[in-house]
Amino acid sequence: MDTKTVKAYGTGSAQADLKQFNINRRLVTANDIENDILYCGVCHSDLHFARNDWGMTQYPVVPGHEIVGRVTNIGPGVTKYTLGELVAVGCLVDSCRTCQNCKDDLEQYCPEWVGTYGGFDKHLNSPTHGGYSETIVVDEAFVLRVPENLDQAGIAPVLCAGITTWSPLKHWNVGKDSKVAVVGLGGLGHMAIKLAHALGAHVTLFSRSAGKIEDAKALGADEVIISTEEDQMGKAMGRFDLILDTVPYAHDLNPYIGTLTTNGTLVIVGYLGPLDPMLATVPMIMGRKSVAGSLIGGIAETQELLDFCGKHNITSDVEVINIQHINEAYERMLKSDVHYRFVIDMKSLKQ
Ligand code: NAP
Ligand code: ZN
Repeated sequence: MDTKTVKAYGTGSAQADLKQFNINRRLVTANDIENDILYCGVCHSDLHFARNDWGMTQYPVVPGHEIVGRVTNIGPGVTKYTLGELVAVGCLVDSCRTCQNCKDDLEQYCPEWVGTYGGFDKHLNSPTHGGYSETIVVDEAFVLRVPENLDQAGIAPVLCAGITTWSPLKHWNVGKDSKVAVVGLGGLGHMAIKLAHALGAHVTLFSRSAGKIEDAKALGADEVIISTEEDQMGKAMGRFDLILDTVPYAHDLNPYIGTLTTNGTLVIVGYLGPLDPMLATVPMIMGRKSVAGSLIGGIAETQELLDFCGKHNITSDVEVINIQHINEAYERMLKSDVHYRFVIDMKSLKQ
């Protein structure tokens, strides 16, 4: 297959810093779009993947799945997009397109879904490479349209942090009378607050960081509970219909189960792995409470969210960085020092 060489940032091992190297992108095939990448958000998943936290990374890795760009090239079969349009690519670049999940617009649950990085690229027979790069080539079926009225850096995190929190908010029918709580105020957490607030819910943040209280309120939280303060946790018993837990590492879920209402659900979106400590079942049984998980969102649902953000003028609160500062950004993410999403200005890779 014909390819071209583009600049990218990534790593060849779990221990090494990210640095610049070249990768190959396919030339557009019939249904492909080539995007010149303008901005790429920095997700905690990028860090997990670069450092092989999930034990499945194949190197080299080029992370990045919150991609906003302009169409610079289209294949002859492309019907939805034209040259120069502002478009986005999120966490998915392909799926089988025939299974029930694909038919139901739930491509993220297709057993053959292809991640934007670390997936299997059937064109090049190698792992897919993400948005920390100059360009990306994607089938138009996995490309999204970006409202032109929004800040281009600020909209990038909607492609992962936004949709990952929007999808469970919609699935669990959050609306005007809902009582929603969010655990952890980072990239996902701050989008969860903004989106649940925009849907009309009463929103509470659980955070370990007392220094984030004012920010959380400015983002749309009605209240903040410091999760390390036992008296504050005690007062929260039985209050929330839905809790979105965005914490990236193993932590005790049991204190949060008690804060659910009867029939309430705690949705894990942050941590991937075995629970430690285990869940105590009695509080779940005594109140028909559920613990669930949720993965990003499908293409149609992501477009719905982008359109919702365009209509309600919602973007992420971002700190724009040059790609040369990505390793520092990862270290700050590990210290929960993100306000509230790093976004890379990809012009910096062209210098
Ligand atoms: P982030 O920006 O680093 O935010 C995580 C927040 O969690 C921190 O700001 C902190 O908030 C809290 N936190 C961090 N470490 C903690 C610990 N040890 N115990 C308790 N709280 C802790 O991360 P993110 O980009 O939002 O991503 C969050 C997680 O979601 C990552 O693991 C990522 O891989 C995952 N993810 C999942 C999906 C999905 O589809 N399910 C999609 C994208 C990302 P406070 O300071 O407020 O406590
Ligand atoms: Zn992500």
